[in-house]
Amino acid sequence: MSTILLAGGAGYIGSHTAVELINSGYDVVVADNYSNSCPEAVKRVEEITGKSVKTYEVDIKDTEKLETVFIENKIDAVIHFAGLKAVGESVEKPVLYYRNNIDTTLALLECMNKYSVKNMIFSSSATVYGEENPVPYTEQMKRGTCTNPYGWTKVMMEQILEDAAKADKELSVVLLRYFNPIGAHESGKIGEDPQGIPNNLMPYVAQVAVGRREKLTIFGKDYDTPDGTCRRDYIHVVDLAKGHVKAIDYILKNNGVEIFNLGTGTPYSVTEIVDTFEKATGVKINHVYGDRRAGDLPESYANADKALAVLGWKTEKTLEDMCKDTWNWQSNNPNGYKK
Ligand code: NAD
Ligand code: UDP
Repeated sequence: MSTILLAGGAGYIGSHTAVELINSGYDVVVADNYSNSCPEAVKRVEEITGKSVKTYEVDIKDTEKLETVFIENKIDAVIHFAGLKAVGESVEKPVLYYRNNIDTTLALLECMNKYSVKNMIFSSSATVYGEENPVPYTEQMKRGTCTNPYGWTKVMMEQILEDAAKADKELSVVLLRYFNPIGAHESGKIGEDPQGIPNNLMPYVAQVAVGRREKLTIFGKDYDTPDGTCRRDYIHVVDLAKGHVKAIDYILKNNGVEIFNLGTGTPYSVTEIVDTFEKATGVKINHVYGDRRAGDLPESYANADKALAVLGWKTEKTLEDMCKDTWNWQSNNPNGYKK
């Protein structure tokens, strides 16, 4: 049985991926400093799967402490989720973002090299397509110009990983470019639990629904899109997690560097999200229209053909499932993991 190290595995996508990997027969080890998560998330993963999960509280940047994880476990592959991800915060604290996101990547590569771990899957983002590329995005497009330091860290980390794999022919790298993950595990036990005011649309909608926020502001209604609001490729986090299982199956058997978009290929507008959430849950979302948010692109969506052709992966859940599961999580956990 192969053992997969989930760096940042207590977070939103990591915890859902842990469930799917365990359910597919993999052993997982979680390493996280809980800077944007909590140990309770891993406990919930254990509840869902009925398996105990070996966990390390460690700052991944700290190569020395990270080594303990590699010494105490025979790791077959690493999935690198450990990053800071708030776009607005990255504009205000660029150095923090470059330090954390780049250094976690370098520390993982150093440890992997030292302990001969040759498989790395990286949480990248559609943001690397930048402003220049036309939608739908395909993997062979050149990385573009990002509008914020968070996006640039993803561009840089992709480059670092490609260079590392070029220099070490035994090192295999899969770059997974996520589109917009939303939703939660159907059990309602794990889900997205942002600290403070949510930056992203769906957690904000969910907090309005549960009464933690008064109203949603829709950022801009004068875009060149069918209803004037921005369109994104929203993907259910469980479909996304299953994409990681397919990527692990793949990387354990293949060498080289591969890039995959993980999206549905279908964009929805902000207004469609609000309408579908209301219909799927029966809860009204108080909302107003406001100014555009700086840096937002009118549209972002994937061409998801490559993941189907190479990994045999495609999304199965609908937008209604995404809304229902978000609400199931939020209504059962109005304050997230906090009691
Ligand atoms: P998250 O914040 O819930 O998870 C990231 C985890 O990494 C957290 O548990 C955090 O505590 C941990 N972490 C951060 N820095 C660390 C460090 N130095 N040492 C140890 N642990 C550290 O975020 P998520 O939504 O699960 O995203 C996971 C990855 O996917 C991130 O790299 C993110 O940039 C990327 N991504 C996310 C989205 C999205 O919309 N959620 C979209 C594209 C890409
Ligand atoms: N959005 C919004 N109000 C909010 C948060 C987001 O109208 O409070 C819009 C945002 O302008 C974008 C879409 O919802 O068009 C998705 O935003 P999110 O931050 O979730 O994802 P990203 O912009 O990174 O694709």
